[in-house]
Amino acid sequence: MGWAQRTGYSDVRQPQPELELDELYRELILDHYKSPRHHTKLAHADVVAEGYNPVCGDEVEMELVFAGDTLAEIGVIGRGCSISQASGSMMSEVVQGKDIAEIRRLSGEFTRMMTEPDGTAPADLGDLEALQGAAKFAARVKCATLAWHTLADGIAQHEKGDGVVRREEA
Ligand code: ZN
Repeated sequence: MGWAQRTGYSDVRQPQPELELDELYRELILDHYKSPRHHTKLAHADVVAEGYNPVCGDEVEMELVFAGDTLAEIGVIGRGCSISQASGSMMSEVVQGKDIAEIRRLSGEFTRMMTEPDGTAPADLGDLEALQGAAKFAARVKCATLAWHTLADGIAQHEKGDGVVRREEA
């Protein structure tokens, strides 16, 4: 039994930073879900990559324009749960304009945050840090990583010189 229970003492004025952060994260996720960034089809796309997560029914389609090794433009559309769609929106903000090596590094950081959560988020992941709460739920991790896996497929297609790729998560 803890000290507060033994004494009957509880301090309701005590701030609860964890709960406030959860609320902030929830609002960020909903904001991206309702107003997804880079939510557009690019008529001049070099690569179209589609991803499907059958566990949850999430779909993402992304259109990519490359300038050499740089992802010059990305458009992301899709449907599914708020985690999957917010992840695609947040990702688009972070990866547009970056080169492929940097995108792979960021993808590694994001994957690490989701699969080996330690309560911290790398600073360069932007709003994506809001998704770290989903790391507690194995099924939601697939929702969160779908966009990144699909982007990785798209980049691989670009490197192979092919234009269209479709992924279905196992
Ligand atoms: Zn989902």
